[in-house]
Amino acid sequence: MDWKLKKKYESLLEQERGYVKKVWGTYNTVCLAFPNSYRTGMANLGFQAVYKIINEQPSFLCERVFLPMSCDDAENITGSAEMFSLESQKSIAEFDILAFSLSFENDYPHILTMLSKAGIPLLTKDRMQGFPLVIGGGIALTLNPEPLADFFDLFILGEAEVALPHFTRVFEDARRLGHDRSTLLKNLQKQIPGVYVPGLYEVKYRADSRIDGFVPREADLPQKIKINHIKDINSYCTEEVIAAPQVEMGDMYLTEVNRGCARSCRFCAASFAYRPARYRSAEEIIASIDRGLVKKKKIGLVGTAVSDHPELIQICEYILAQNAQVGIGSLRIDQINEKIVDLMKAGRIETVALAPEAGSQKMRDILRKDITQEDIIQAAELLIEKEIPNLRLYFMVGLPGEEDSDIDAIIDLTSKIQHSALLKTCGKRKFRRITLSVNQFIPKPQTPLQWFALANVSETGRKIKKIISAFARDKQINVISDVPKWNYVQALLSLGDRRVGEILMAVHRLEGNWVKAFKEVNINPDDYVYRRKSLDEVLPWDMIDLGTSRKSLISEYKKAQVLSEIHLS
Ligand code: SF4
Repeated sequence: MDWKLKKKYESLLEQERGYVKKVWGTYNTVCLAFPNSYRTGMANLGFQAVYKIINEQPSFLCERVFLPMSCDDAENITGSAEMFSLESQKSIAEFDILAFSLSFENDYPHILTMLSKAGIPLLTKDRMQGFPLVIGGGIALTLNPEPLADFFDLFILGEAEVALPHFTRVFEDARRLGHDRSTLLKNLQKQIPGVYVPGLYEVKYRADSRIDGFVPREADLPQKIKINHIKDINSYCTEEVIAAPQVEMGDMYLTEVNRGCARSCRFCAASFAYRPARYRSAEEIIASIDRGLVKKKKIGLVGTAVSDHPELIQICEYILAQNAQVGIGSLRIDQINEKIVDLMKAGRIETVALAPEAGSQKMRDILRKDITQEDIIQAAELLIEKEIPNLRLYFMVGLPGEEDSDIDAIIDLTSKIQHSALLKTCGKRKFRRITLSVNQFIPKPQTPLQWFALANVSETGRKIKKIISAFARDKQINVISDVPKWNYVQALLSLGDRRVGEILMAVHRLEGNWVKAFKEVNINPDDYVYRRKSLDEVLPWDMIDLGTSRKSLISEYKKAQVLSEIHLS
C-alpha cells in the first residue's frame, strides 16, 4: 500500500471517534462499502447503523471503504486504485463479505468501479468460491434492485436491523458446516425475510420485450420477496456511531427520531418504503441526545417526517436547555407554528427548508401534497417575522400534466414570499436569502406515480432555465438544480429491469461515456424512461412486496391521472 495513502488513512482515523478496529484472526470479515466519497458516506446514518450492527456480532468484524476520489484532498480520500479498507488497510478482496450501502441510483456505476479496482469479477456468475460475497442494501435497492441483479450475489431489502443479525448467523453456520457458495445463498434466500438472491430467479420476457414474470429456479423458493418492517422502533437506536469532523454536517450529532410518514404524498418513495410511520419515544431520543452531547454541541434530528413527531417541542426544549443547538432537516409547512419557530431561533438556526414541491395548487393536488398557497406564505411569513434569515424552498418540475403556467406559479410564489420578507423586515438586512432548489420529478418505483413517464429532460431543462432567468438579476434569490442528463440516468436506473445491467457494463467499459454506451447496447433506454407504463404490465420491481397493495397504488395513480388530464384539457 502506498505510504502517502497509508498516512492519509491514519490521519482520518486519528480524527474519528467511535470506530471499531478488531484484530484479524478468526472473525468473519465484512467490508462495508459506500460508493461515493467518505464525506458523503459518513453523513449517512443508515451506513453507520449497519457498521454498528455487524460489529456488535461477536464473531464478525466490519471495516469501511469508500469510492476512491481523483482529487488529492484529505477531506475526500479514503480509497486508492488498490482499494483498501480504512481500519486495517486490508485489500477489500480479502474480506468474506463486501456489503454495499446504496441510497442513490446515480452511484450504481461506482459499484462496478470499486469491484474492478479490487480485482473482484463484476458479474456474480463469474465470482467463484474465494471471492467475497457481494451484498447490497439501502432504499434505492429496496424500491427496485433489478438493474443491479447481475452484479450482486444477494440483496438485503427493507430495514436491515432485523435481517442483518439473522444473516450473520446463517452465514456463520454455513461456514462451520463447510457449505459452498450456492448452498449458502439458497439457505439465506429461504430463511431470511427481505433477502433476495437474484440469481435464484429467472425473468421471463414476452415477444414485445415486456416482462412476462419472475420464476423461482427451485420449487421451494418464495414467489415474492416480502419486506418486513421493524415494529418497535425503540428497540433499535439509529444514531451517529463514528464522529468524523471531515464530513457533511460533521459538527452535528445525528439521531433518528422517526421512520416513515403517514401522509403518503403520491411521489414520496420514503413514505411508501418505510411503512407504517413510526416515532421513537422522547425518552429514547433524549438518551441518544445525551450520548451525543458528550461529543458535540449541535444535535441533528433525522427522519422521514421530523416535524410530525408528537413530542418534537419537548425534545427541542431539552436540547436548548443543555445549551446546545438543534438542527432539523426540513419542516412540514402545515406544522410550522410560533412555538417551533421560537425554538429554532433560540437554537440559532439560520436556514429553514420548506418543501412546497409545486407552485400551483393543481400540481400540489396531483402530488397529494395537501397544502395551500396560503399555508406556504403564512409559514414563510412567520419564519421571516421571527428573523430566520435564510429560506430554502424545494420545488419539482416535469410533473404529470404540467404547463408553463405551473412554472410561472413557482416564480410567482417565490416573488410573493420575497415581497413579504421585504415588507416584514422593512427592507432592513435581517432577511438574507431565498434558495430555490428546483429538481426534476423522477417517478419512483413502489409509489402511485410509478406508471408515469419521466418528462423530457430538455423540455424540463428549459423550464428550469425560465425560473433561473426570472431571478438572474436578483441577488437575494439563488436557484440551484440538477444537471438534466443525470435525471435521465437516474430515471433509467430507478425504473429499469435486469437488462439495464448491460448498459451499466458498457458504461463501465467506456469509462463513464453514457452516450456511447447507449449506442453500443441493443436496448432502448427510452422505453424505461419515457414510456408511460400500462396498469396491467408486470413492472421490474413487482416481485418485491413492500406491503402496500397494488390496488391502493392504482387507485391513487388514477386520481393523479384524472387531475393531470383535467389540468391539460
Ligand atoms: S409529508 Fe414529506 S415525508 Fe411525508 S409523504 Fe409527504 S413528502 Fe413524504
